[in-house]
Amino acid sequence: MHPTQLELLGGNQLRIQWSNGEQRECSARALRESCPCATCREKRQNKSKEPAAVLPILSPAETLPLTISAMNPIGNYAYCIEFSDGHNAGIYSLEFLHSLGNSID
Ligand SMILES: [Zn+2]
Repeated sequence: MHPTQLELLGGNQLRIQWSNGEQRECSARALRESCPCATCREKRQNKSKEPAAVLPILSPAETLPLTISAMNPIGNYAYCIEFSDGHNAGIYSLEFLHSLGNSID
């Protein structure tokens, strides 16, 4: 299964048309928070160890609405997604992208 069409709605909502006819949407925020790169995976692990009372300190970029700046195909199995906060280390396999999206039809 592969995307037949990628569409950015308002810069922060990614709509993917899949080759099996499915249409799925995923927000830029959700994609960013699921970033599969090693740094983000480690961050998420550490976060779950912190006591709930500790508020995370947000950088200015993190308080702005997050958008997708670029999506570059890697071979025919994945996409590298660049976000408006400058992060572009995540390689999203097609399978992973598909699992993140919510069906909209
Ligand atoms: Zn990452």
